[in-house]
Amino acid sequence: MNDSNKSKSLLLKEIKQLRIELSAVKLTTEKRITELYKSEERFSLAMRGTNDGLWDWNLETNEVYYSPRWKSMLGYGEEELDSTINTWARLVHPNDKDRVLEKVQDYLAGRADSFEVEMRMHHKDGRQIFVLSRGFLVTRESDGKPAGLVGTHVDITQRKKAEVFNDKNAEILEMIAIGRPASGIYDAIALMYEGRHPGMRCSMLELHGKKLLHGGAPSLPKAYSNAVHGMEYGPSVGSCGTSTYTGKRVVVENIETDPKWEKFKHIALPHGMRCCWSEPIKNSCGKVLGAFCMYYNYPALPNDEESNDLKSAARLAGIVMERDQAQKRIRTLAYTDELTGLASRTYFYKHLQGLIKTSARHHHRFGLLYIDLDNFKDVNDSLGHDAGDLLLETIARRLENTCRDIDFVARLSGDEFCILAKEIDDGYATNVARRCLDAISQPIEIATRKLIPSCSIGIARYPDDGDDLAILVKAADTSLYAAKKNGKHQYAFYEPELTRKAEYRFQVEQCLREAIEKQQLSLVYQPQVNVNTGKIIGVEALSRWHHPLLGQVSPVDFIATAERIGMIKPLTEWVLSTACSQAVAWKKEGFSGLRMSVNISPSHFLDKEIVPLIKRTLDETGMAQAELELEVTESVVQTDKRNLSIFQDLKSLGVLLAIDDFGTGYSSFASLKHLKVDCLKIDKYFVDDMLVDKKSLLLIGSMIEMGHKLGYGIIVEGVEASNQLNTLKSLGCGAAQGYLFSKPVNANAISKLLNTCYEC
Ligand code: C2E
Ligand code: CA
Ligand code: CA
Repeated sequence: MNDSNKSKSLLLKEIKQLRIELSAVKLTTEKRITELYKSEERFSLAMRGTNDGLWDWNLETNEVYYSPRWKSMLGYGEEELDSTINTWARLVHPNDKDRVLEKVQDYLAGRADSFEVEMRMHHKDGRQIFVLSRGFLVTRESDGKPAGLVGTHVDITQRKKAEVFNDKNAEILEMIAIGRPASGIYDAIALMYEGRHPGMRCSMLELHGKKLLHGGAPSLPKAYSNAVHGMEYGPSVGSCGTSTYTGKRVVVENIETDPKWEKFKHIALPHGMRCCWSEPIKNSCGKVLGAFCMYYNYPALPNDEESNDLKSAARLAGIVMERDQAQKRIRTLAYTDELTGLASRTYFYKHLQGLIKTSARHHHRFGLLYIDLDNFKDVNDSLGHDAGDLLLETIARRLENTCRDIDFVARLSGDEFCILAKEIDDGYATNVARRCLDAISQPIEIATRKLIPSCSIGIARYPDDGDDLAILVKAADTSLYAAKKNGKHQYAFYEPELTRKAEYRFQVEQCLREAIEKQQLSLVYQPQVNVNTGKIIGVEALSRWHHPLLGQVSPVDFIATAERIGMIKPLTEWVLSTACSQAVAWKKEGFSGLRMSVNISPSHFLDKEIVPLIKRTLDETGMAQAELELEVTESVVQTDKRNLSIFQDLKSLGVLLAIDDFGTGYSSFASLKHLKVDCLKIDKYFVDDMLVDKKSLLLIGSMIEMGHKLGYGIIVEGVEASNQLNTLKSLGCGAAQGYLFSKPVNANAISKLLNTCYEC
């Protein structure tokens, strides 16, 4: 073949090759075109009749076709917005952008089978809308690289809002169920409805009496809420004041022009509010509790959705308000003392617990004053419970006025009050205590009677006397006991020694209950001597208690304890029967005419069972009534006239009655006028210093003389020395008792003494 033929055949070969390639390209292009047609067909089919927006993104050039619906969904016209991916990037919520792009990458790289994502996008009017975007790959480069994505946008804002609303609703119900504070729930309710209606601002007001109080309004300016707080409701008081007054919905389209807002618009307009719709909040019985208000910054009337929401919002707020008010009522009942209006015992303990905590944190000190009225029972007993209540109310006011606002005053029970006084300077608690004593002891007229109340106060200091509630309260109680014991109408600070005493007292209390049963009690007898003959004319029975662990307990302690714990009756019963049996036994031994004196506690003496008890004892023991003498202290003489009949009844039984410790109490000869008494026992107190103190000598002389003149027998107690006896004799004293003759001794020892005659 020649050269020209050769090149011709090569050319033909190339042309053939080119043809083959061309037809291949043609084929691919046709295929791509068909695919594109197919997908477009699919799209137009899918899109037809739907409201979805369409996008077509060229991944090589980043050009994006946005369909008119895609744009209108975001508030833009057909000619607006550039056809680039930047348009989307600008309109998507910044917090969602990366997540969406990541999803695109996953799909393109084959890590996800489909592309479907929800995102928030900015509407032209500033709103935020929720969009569901779906897409799929329609083109690839020859090397398989993705070239184009096509997809849709669906506006899911309504569904999303409903979901958010439902979630919020569930959250609020949970808050109600677990008892969250009402203010927090009010805010959540407001925010929930505000989320549903962009631009809306909500508020809740509580009706207290005639006043509207701020409940919750998280999106309203504080200045506005403050201005509304405390406003009185009425027939023309804005939207809320009017709706709470009428109990009906009040819709104000334009605050600026509505007559109901005439006087109040100056409060709302500066903050932008232009319309206000208010629905009364009612409880389950239909009582108006407050109002739910919706505001917009433009004049408007509610549409159907807003109207329904206003109703349901008020209903939801009503549940919260009703529950909150019920809880507050319960708390008030539990935390307030009904009679005095002071804090109750429960509240006191709660407050004290809190005060201890904060004081520990800030190294503060405070005083706990435990206050107890002196002899309050007497007021109740003699003037009745109404008078007692009146006194307690007066005392409560006096205590309140004595304290600063930061001090805490509570009534614990009966006539017990407590003050928690924060120590600002040293001795503040002492000042409060002094002022209380002073304030309380001001005269008061109750039931036409003039009373001069008094109180005793125990003071414990935090942290010195105790750093926990129980110890502190106990310390205050212990010091109160000391103040009472020291003679009442005074205050006492806590001292550790007092705790030891209190513990001993407690032990005495516990053991005394079984002392009679376990035969730990015994009687000793102290002779009473006729100072002219030297003969024993009688004996006084005195109780002794020996406990295996506590040892010998003084009668001064255990008699008082027995009175306190209600043991005095069985104890007296035992003393009476033992003493009378002993007297009868001595009589049988031949010692006749001996008088047996038995001490009777005032509380027991005034008990209506005392007369039958004495009678029974006389009957059971065979004791001669004229040989039994009952000793009662002067306190019995001065109480109520009702006691007259007890004296009378006992006298009718034929027993003797003696006034013990005469001269030390408050009675006088005058108060004995009505009482039938046989003997006065002049107290040792006068004997002790009669030789050194002229006054005592004079007093004792007068008592002996006057007693004799009035026909009473006289015994002088506590005679310890013979010069005392001589003086007494010269004063005309006929009988005496004291260590000079004998200490109280047991029955056997007395048997021996009965034969002796004292040298007088
Ligand atoms: P009281 O009835 O005034 O009894 C007199 C007390 O003075 C007795 O004390 C007696 O031991 C004491 N005493 C007598 N002479 C002298 C003396 O010369 N010098 C001194 N320093 N003391 C003298 P005691 O036995 O300790 O009794 C104290 C109080 O306990 C009694 O005072 C009485 O009030 C009460 N008490 C004792 N036994 C009974 C009882 O069985 N029933 C009741 N209700 N009270 C009782
Ligand atoms: Ca006595
Ligand atoms: Ca006495």
